[in-house]
Amino acid sequence: MYKRILLKLSGESLMGSKQYGIDEVRLAEYAQQIKQVADLGVQIGIVIGGGNIFRGLSGAGKGFDRVKGDQMGMLATTINALALSSALNSIGQKARVLTAINMFPIGEQYSKWRAIEVMEAGEVAILAGGTGCPYFTTDTGSALRGIEIEADVMLKGTRVDGIYTADPEKDPTATKFDKITYDEIYNKGLKVMDLTATTLCRDNKLPIIVFNMDVVGNLYKVMTDEPIGTLVYEG
Ligand code: UDP
Repeated sequence: MYKRILLKLSGESLMGSKQYGIDEVRLAEYAQQIKQVADLGVQIGIVIGGGNIFRGLSGAGKGFDRVKGDQMGMLATTINALALSSALNSIGQKARVLTAINMFPIGEQYSKWRAIEVMEAGEVAILAGGTGCPYFTTDTGSALRGIEIEADVMLKGTRVDGIYTADPEKDPTATKFDKITYDEIYNKGLKVMDLTATTLCRDNKLPIIVFNMDVVGNLYKVMTDEPIGTLVYEG
């Protein structure tokens, strides 16, 4: 079993059945799943997206300055981080928000060592604000933080149950990979994460497991070595 994980949660999934914002039911399910794994003694760092609230790129399409739009996106991830920390606290799981950009007292400023200290104390470290830089995504933020905090694996929670030969929501003949190398992702042109994130993981040998986080119990299954999702490895 993994000792330390970096869990990436998508902002979009937090919408649950809603069109925008945070679905309390989905949020509570995520918190339960995370606590279940924390109770196993696993150290958990979490990077959460912000697509349920704001994305810089779509803002730029509507005339926003891209850098300001991305900063709005990073603030969106921080809103989600606060919501998740609150949901975890309410079920008795200690959690702390560390922000890429100084915004004390909303969170403490992130550093690798503070994050490790928090996780070693049994708290979930929620790493908000992505990388802190515009033109990046939270996938890249989670690859970066996963490497920095020396996680054993990056768990990318999505709404599909792994990596497919084609988009399974559009192509019914698509089949799932149980495992795949980083290079196959490039060569087959698969859209798993943006290439910056994939490259960071490859260059630093951080394995990725893509799995469906929206099915309650799946995070526990990944942690207890049940064969779900798709493993991305070096080969
Ligand atoms: N963002 C950014 N730098 C980062 C991470 C995120 O500028 O390091 C901004 C960017 O505008 C992005 C938004 O935050 O669109 C929300 O993140 P993302 O789209 O990755 O969220 P998700 O798709 O996981 O919900």
